[in-house]
Amino acid sequence: PEFALFNINDLIEKALSLLRLKIEKKGVTVRFQKNEDPLSVNVDANQIQQVFVNILLNALDVLDFGGLITIISEKAGNHLKISIKDNGPGIPPDIMPKIFNPFFSTKEVGKGTGLGLSVSYGIVKNHGGTIEVQSKPGQGTTFTVKLPMNSLQN
Ligand code: ADP
Ligand code: MG
Repeated sequence: PEFALFNINDLIEKALSLLRLKIEKKGVTVRFQKNEDPLSVNVDANQIQQVFVNILLNALDVLDFGGLITIISEKAGNHLKISIKDNGPGIPPDIMPKIFNPFFSTKEVGKGTGLGLSVSYGIVKNHGGTIEVQSKPGQGTTFTVKLPMNSLQN
């Protein structure tokens, strides 16, 4: 991995621009509430963008036309907290413990490899961060990624 300083908001914007067409086609609204401060992190930009893309792709998969994704980036102590929330169907409690397992997928054959979240988990862990999920069936799902903030910049 190649670590360098990046503004987290730029990495989220980049991930969103990669998915822009798909977002428009699905008729999904994305709200991005950016923290005012330029929150910098020391990361492998490609890997962290991949994490955001993986989480966003899963949200797009479960959302119907008119669905909503809300992204919030904020400071949380000495960490940066990025939450990505969808108003989709949520994750059933019996499935929750398995979603980060490699090759676990509830999607039709050919529609999911079951690797997105497992790879994302590994990437975030390698960056000294955490990735957590909160979900209530019927009320949507929120993935929260925490990354250590760069102590020099913040
Ligand atoms: P894949 O997308 O290939 O199925 P992932 O590792 O990305 O694999 O996700 C694993 C599983 O977690 C999905 O198949 C789905 O059951 C569940 N999941 C992930 N994100 C969401 C979400 N936002 N809403 C509902 N279920 C989700
Ligand atoms: Mg996926």
